[in-house]
Amino acid sequence: MSKKILIVEDEQDILQLITFHLQAEGFATLTALNGIKGLELAKEQIPDMILLDLMLPGMDGLEVCKTLKRDPKTENIPVVMLTAKGEEIDRIVGFELGADDYITKPFSPRELILRLRAILRRYETEKPTPSKISFGDLQIDLDSYRVWIDKEQIYLTITEFNLLLELLENKGRVRSRNQLLDRVWGYQFDGYARTVDTHVRRLRQKIGPYADAIETVRGVGYRFKDSE
Ligand code: CA
Repeated sequence: MSKKILIVEDEQDILQLITFHLQAEGFATLTALNGIKGLELAKEQIPDMILLDLMLPGMDGLEVCKTLKRDPKTENIPVVMLTAKGEEIDRIVGFELGADDYITKPFSPRELILRLRAILRRYETEKPTPSKISFGDLQIDLDSYRVWIDKEQIYLTITEFNLLLELLENKGRVRSRNQLLDRVWGYQFDGYARTVDTHVRRLRQKIGPYADAIETVRGVGYRFKDSE
């Protein structure tokens, strides 16, 4: 059965463009031009995923996301925020409100489809996992997507969070840059290996005392230390 995607976007041309490409890929689509209508459809139809524009008239995307994640009927539907360039803070906030990913406009249809497929796959293969993972005083809560070091919360972007999780879940084992791209970003593109390095660098800065726990394996990738 084809997956049903709800698109909430007030710009008609973007809405039509996304709808066109999703249908061409075999997805069923539902559309809403504002947040209220989007919420209604989400509750009625329980789509497999929601693409949610951040800047909407009236109730904005963050408010819609918060409402979706508060309702037991809709809380498990993955939400991908559509954001404009330069909305870095909103991205992080959106993530903390429970959005599963974000895509920055303008995006290519190919990028959009790859990201959606990656997220859907992640949801399908998701096994019941413990909701908390820790390494010394570094604690990760998988339900709320929050991270603490020595009881003090640190703030990671979605990519940094997923990167940390991927490394930690495979501690003691080397993850190549390509494996990380595939698992964290959901796709591989030539030239993206540097992206991994950049994000690892930022992640190390943020986890301060645990920076050394992420070891660089020359010519291969990264490994989270087996033990402290
Ligand atoms: Ca908009």
